[in-house]
Amino acid sequence: MIESIGKELIETFASIGDSWGSFLLSSTGEVGERFLLFLLLQVTEKNLSDLKRDTADVTKVQEKLLMDILRLQKDTEYGKRYNFAAIETVSEFLSKHPLTTYEDYRSIINGIANTGDFSQLVSEQITLFQESSGTTGEVKLIPRTKSLSFSFLKAFQASEVIAGSYFENQDASPGKRRGLAFINTTPTKVTPTGIPRGTGTSGGFREAIGKYKLVEQLIDLKYSSPSSVFLISDNESAYYCHLLFGLLEEDITFIAANFAANVLEAIQLLERDWQQFIYDIQIGQIHKGVKIDAATRKELQNRLKPNSRRARILRTEFSKGFGSILLRIWPQLNHIQCITTGSQYLYAENLKFYAGTIPFYSGGYGASEAWIGVNLEPHRMPPAYVITPHTAYFEFISEAEIDADLPFSVDLTSLKTGESYEVTVTTIAGLYRYKLGDVVKCVGWYNQSPIVEFQYRRQSLLDFAGEKVSEKVIWTALASAVESLGDELQILEYSTRMEFSTLPWRYVIYLEALRISDSLPDLKAYRDRMDEIISRSNQRYRDLRDENKIGLLELKLVRKGTFKALKEKILFQGYSETQFKMPRLLTDSVLIDFIENLVDPNFGQKK
Ligand code: AMP
Repeated sequence: MIESIGKELIETFASIGDSWGSFLLSSTGEVGERFLLFLLLQVTEKNLSDLKRDTADVTKVQEKLLMDILRLQKDTEYGKRYNFAAIETVSEFLSKHPLTTYEDYRSIINGIANTGDFSQLVSEQITLFQESSGTTGEVKLIPRTKSLSFSFLKAFQASEVIAGSYFENQDASPGKRRGLAFINTTPTKVTPTGIPRGTGTSGGFREAIGKYKLVEQLIDLKYSSPSSVFLISDNESAYYCHLLFGLLEEDITFIAANFAANVLEAIQLLERDWQQFIYDIQIGQIHKGVKIDAATRKELQNRLKPNSRRARILRTEFSKGFGSILLRIWPQLNHIQCITTGSQYLYAENLKFYAGTIPFYSGGYGASEAWIGVNLEPHRMPPAYVITPHTAYFEFISEAEIDADLPFSVDLTSLKTGESYEVTVTTIAGLYRYKLGDVVKCVGWYNQSPIVEFQYRRQSLLDFAGEKVSEKVIWTALASAVESLGDELQILEYSTRMEFSTLPWRYVIYLEALRISDSLPDLKAYRDRMDEIISRSNQRYRDLRDENKIGLLELKLVRKGTFKALKEKILFQGYSETQFKMPRLLTDSVLIDFIENLVDPNFGQKK
């Protein structure tokens, strides 16, 4: 999503010219600012009206998109293999091309990364390999092209317009909409042939800031943080700087982040270190512990002045406690833009303590592979997304068919309200009938396009910041730790949860032993071993551990019979026994409290 903000700006500059726009801004002051913001609004509003128009003629838009994709890619090696040139109808395509997963593309994509020969798969230059964790923990590289970025841009901008028109004061000029962004990036790496690789979010944003002066100026107009703050790679230091510049402004009207987790993490940092923030605002400094390079420190420091008035106001509010703090320190705040569905649900729930009555807007649903939906009804709870017909050719596999050898798929117009499906996409950047692994539920219609609620990700389990550590990885790590450390412990059951009341956040793993030796096992040794194994199988987890964005996991032994009691408790909520699967990720606070109360304070039950 961050990357789209960058692209939004880029596209605007592309149409007006960077130096011209930059000159206009610096020389004409507020008039120039207003004009640029007006231009930006026109572009974004058009994207929303295009989206609405597309939903009124879904079949035609989808068919045209599919045929455009096949024509675009017909001369690639992949396109020749399936003879795209000869395909004339949707049903011909469906009969000739099977459903796929990432594994069907892995060797082609790795080949492109090594040789740079993108014509194997796509006709356009690959601008970025977006890194995303695979189901086995092995990194997936999803090709991004200019056309794919453009389709993201249009969808993202549509959600921006919704946010602006729904929450912001319409009498205020666009320049009065000031955002505090908790958007951090990490430097992109490159493949052996020089193609950038990294998370989709970091790539575009960094590129945009480095390339266009006007991007920096527009960031200044729109957000409280100077553009250099978006380039700080140490996570906590970046949050500190976003917060410091945000706290200095009383008139923030919105908070923006990719995920609810980002906002929660930042606000928890504020709660922990608020005295330091007050001190720094009081004397106008960035404290020494913040990890930034000397040039950035100097540039940011030059923007600061002692502000004892603001420090006094903040001290008064922080001293009263952090319940509903956001509105007390930013009285104009009218919404928080971040994803609150799926894995983000539990963070959003925890964030409510700080946000009080401020509404959230979960504006978009997208993946590195393709954008999927935009939330056109911000008041709707739980948030739901209208599928965007121009961003991919969509098929849906009914939940009951997901594990079938040859599942049957239906098109965008054939979903049944109330039923759940796995999303499948054919994208503009080289993926065909690709099973995304996400399960969504159709909850209604916007014109002819389904409105969906995100249900769950098929394989992913633990996910603080994109590492998506799967059940399989946890289990493999646990089993190998037990095996390699002797036979003191045999595991009966296990489950996990994400602990975010500590900083850094960490995984907690609950174990019930079938058998345990008389001498209490050293859980620390198991824990260290697991951490090592997960790190080895999941690059993103390793990076996050190295950067201290995820703390060392904790293992807890529970009393005998705990999981049986847990199962009974869940079944009591109305689930059928034959359908029952032990949850490997606990998110329900009632179940978490329940299992916490059954943790053995002596580390377990001998024999
Ligand atoms: P990535 O490709 O790493 O950006 O991850 C994309 C995945 O994040 C999607 O396939 C979903 O599983 C999840 N995701 C993205 N947006 C949402 C959303 N609005 N609600 C729930 N899950 C989401």
